[in-house]
Amino acid sequence: MIRFSIHNQTELKALLAENKIPAFRYGQIENAIYKNFITNFDEIQTIPKDLRELLKENCFYQSLEVEHQATSKNDQTSKFLFKTTDDLLIEAVLMRHLSGRNTLCISCQAGCPMACTFCATGKLWLQKNLPLYEIIEQVMYAAKLVNDEWSRLRNVVFMGMGEPMLNYDVMKQAIYMFTDQKKFDLSNRRVTVSTCGIVPWINKFTEDFPQTSLAISLHAPNDEIRKSIMPVDHTYDIEALMASLDNYTDKTNKRIFYEYIMINGVNDHLKLADELWKLLEGRLAHVNFIPYNAWEGTSSDGYTTTPRFIIEKFQKILQKYWVVSTIRATMWDDIDAACGQLARKKKDEQNEIEKTQD
Ligand code: SF4
Repeated sequence: MIRFSIHNQTELKALLAENKIPAFRYGQIENAIYKNFITNFDEIQTIPKDLRELLKENCFYQSLEVEHQATSKNDQTSKFLFKTTDDLLIEAVLMRHLSGRNTLCISCQAGCPMACTFCATGKLWLQKNLPLYEIIEQVMYAAKLVNDEWSRLRNVVFMGMGEPMLNYDVMKQAIYMFTDQKKFDLSNRRVTVSTCGIVPWINKFTEDFPQTSLAISLHAPNDEIRKSIMPVDHTYDIEALMASLDNYTDKTNKRIFYEYIMINGVNDHLKLADELWKLLEGRLAHVNFIPYNAWEGTSSDGYTTTPRFIIEKFQKILQKYWVVSTIRATMWDDIDAACGQLARKKKDEQNEIEKTQD
């Protein structure tokens, strides 16, 4: 018999109905899984034994295997490398904040077809769109971990492996589950979707999720540089992108987060800071500068990190023109926590092993 994920509420409700089990039992199961973090169906004491047996026969709790888990020296960041049942590797990163504002960065695809040149995930190409349960399991795993630490997961960001807009329907269902009070109970604004800028999907997202936060991988203020590092810009240039983002802010009145990775000699010339503030002037924007995190395998691209003092100068120019910005702390360098790094490293290791076995 093929078992289905306990997170598949449609199938679970259908199973209960087929077996003439009263509907209120669904609420008890939901409470046990999402509020009490019970991972073993045998331990759900609020439901009768024959229902526990039915769940064991028909459902699974977790399909992802934890291939690797590492926590940074300062205990603030944990990285999880999960293996899917079809042997693909996906990553999630948990960032703990002293204020209790714990944030989980999740993957929506294994690999990514968008091929941004600075990104370890882009080098893997697209392996698959993740099904809903593999996305929910990443969140469930981290939510249970922080619950065991007497804290709570507060934010979820689609900023790990993959382009969420290309797995739109699944992302949509996942957001409904994250914000469902009976499940993860996150507020909509604490869920962030990060995209490289696929304009038609941003417009759809604006219609569907006016309360949900949006982040844009911008990484350059002009098309010439952006095209050279982000192939998506060949299809949707900055003008088209900004028009869709203006539509988002007009309809939602929400600030957009702009991610800007700082790559030495590529997109960090100070004259680009001028272009950037001019681009964002008068727009509800928050720029997040990300020092490029060198990973094994980029040596062929020759990318290195922009020196800190240049990032700060860049930021000062924006501040002068009232563009809000932050510099992302690199508190997780010791665990390869940038998007796709660990999966890419493991894949390279696997390839090496396969080569030696040939
Ligand atoms: S930066 Fe994002 S969109 Fe670009 S290749 Fe990496 S995961 Fe894909």
